[in-house]
Amino acid sequence: MTDLTSLTLADAREGLAQKSFTALELTDAHLAAMEKARVLNAYVLETPEQARAQAKAADATIARGEAGLLAGIPLGVKDLFATTGVRTTACSKILGNFIPQYESTVTSQLWRDGAVMLGKLNCDEFAMGSSNETSAFGPVLNPWRREGSDLDLVPGGSSGGSASAVAANLCLGATGTDTGGSIRQPAAFTGIVGIKPTYGRCSRWGTVAFASSLDQAGPFARTVRDTAILMRSMAGHDPKDTTSVDRPVPDYEAAIGKSVKGMKIGIPKEYRLDGMSGEIDKLWAQGADWLKAAGAELVEVSLPHTKYALPAYYVVAPAEASSNLARYDGVRYGARVNGRNIAEMYENTRAAGFGPEVRRRIMIGTYVLSAGYYDAYYLRAQKVRTLIKKDFEDVFAKGVHAILTPATPSAAFGVGEKGKADPIEMYLNDIFTVTVNMAGLPGIAVPAGKDKQGLPLGLQLIGRPFDEDTLFSLGEVIEQATGHFTARKWWA
Ligand code: GLN
Repeated sequence: MTDLTSLTLADAREGLAQKSFTALELTDAHLAAMEKARVLNAYVLETPEQARAQAKAADATIARGEAGLLAGIPLGVKDLFATTGVRTTACSKILGNFIPQYESTVTSQLWRDGAVMLGKLNCDEFAMGSSNETSAFGPVLNPWRREGSDLDLVPGGSSGGSASAVAANLCLGATGTDTGGSIRQPAAFTGIVGIKPTYGRCSRWGTVAFASSLDQAGPFARTVRDTAILMRSMAGHDPKDTTSVDRPVPDYEAAIGKSVKGMKIGIPKEYRLDGMSGEIDKLWAQGADWLKAAGAELVEVSLPHTKYALPAYYVVAPAEASSNLARYDGVRYGARVNGRNIAEMYENTRAAGFGPEVRRRIMIGTYVLSAGYYDAYYLRAQKVRTLIKKDFEDVFAKGVHAILTPATPSAAFGVGEKGKADPIEMYLNDIFTVTVNMAGLPGIAVPAGKDKQGLPLGLQLIGRPFDEDTLFSLGEVIEQATGHFTARKWWA
C-alpha cells in the first residue's frame, strides 16, 4: 500500500470512499509519522485517543453511507483554537494548562463534517511573530533545508507548526490564523498552500484573539484543491461572532479548473521593492506569464499607500492586542503568580506569563492608545488603513479580478538569524501580506518555484471581498505550472 501520509486530502477522501483503507488506518499512519517527526516540534500536544475515536466514528458513517464532507480526514489544529477538554495555550505560558469548556466554531464545523483531530500545533505566542520563535514551546523547524546544508530553518509564523506539519506529511491539512500574514508567509516558507479568507468569512468565536479587526482563520494544505475543500467546512455565518458575515458558503472546490480566460490581473508597481532579490522578481514575472498563458490579461496597477501599511499595522495590531490581552490577569485563566495584594498578583502573573515579544506589543499598544498619543498614532493609523482599503477598491473598480504579488521578500531563514537586535527586521517579513488584512480582503499563497539554494518560494493572489473562488481558480493555474515540491526527509 502507498504511504497514506503522502496522499492529498482529495485522494484520501477518494480512497476512503472506495474503502481502499479505513479512516483508522489513515489516522494511525499519521500518528506514527508524528511520533517519528517530533524533532520538528510542530505539535505541542498529540491527541491519539481522540483521533482514533473520531476515526472509528468516521468509519462507521462511511459504512452507513452517511459520510460527511471530511469524514476520516486527519487534521492538525493551531493551538489558538479552543478545543473542548483539550489543552489550549496560544503557545503562551500565561495560559498554562488552560482546558477550554467550549469548542471554537471553526473546529466544531470541521468535526461536524467528520474530520479527525491529530493534535494541537505550535505557533508564535498569541500569534505574534513571523518565525515561530516566540512560542513558549520553543521554535518549530522547517522540513526544508538548503541544498547541501543541515542548518535548521524557520517555517515562518505565526502558524509555523501548521505549515511544518502539513509540509512534512504529519496531517492532510491544518487550521491557521492570519492577522498580518500568519497563514500566507509560513505557507510560502514551506512550499504549501494557505489562504486567508475575507474578513468575516470564518467565525472568530473561540479563537484566541490577537487583533480582532484583522484576525481571520483559514486552512493550510498541500494543494489548492485541498484548501478549497477545507474552507467550505471552516467558513460560514456564526451568530456568536457579530463580525461574521451571513452569506452562503459556495462549493469552493467547483472553482478548481475553471477557466481564467479574460480575467484581469493587477500587478502593483509599489510591490517592487528597492533591493528586492532578483529571484523574487523572476518568480513574480514567471507567475504573471503563467496566468497570461492561461488567458488572463495582465495590467499594471497602483496601490499608492502600500508603503504606510507596515507602520500602520504595527500601530493597529498592538493597540488591539493590548486591549485583548488585558483579560490575562491570573484570575480567570491559566497561570497565576501570587503577590502581597491583587495589583501585585496581576503584575507578577503578567510579567512571568508573557514572553518578550508579547510584552513589547502590549507596551506599544498601550502607548499608542494613551491620552496625548492616541490622535498622533492610533487615529492616524486608522486613517491610513482606510486609504489602503480605498487603494484596493479603486483597482477592483477598474475591472481587475485579482492582484498578483510575491508572498514574501525572501525564502525561509535560519533559526535565530533574524530580529535579535532589531525587531523591525522580523516585521519586514510581512511587507506583502499586511495590506490584505488591513483591507479585509482574501489572499492565497501558492508555491511557485525555488530559490538557488533549493528552498520553496510562493506567490500571493489577492481577491475582491468574498471572491475566494477566483483565487482558487487562479491558484490552481500557478500550481499546475509549478508542480509539487517535497522536502528531503531528514527528520525520520
Ligand atoms: N507577523 C505578524 C505579526 O507578528 C503577523 C502575525 C499574524 O498574522 N498572526 O504581527
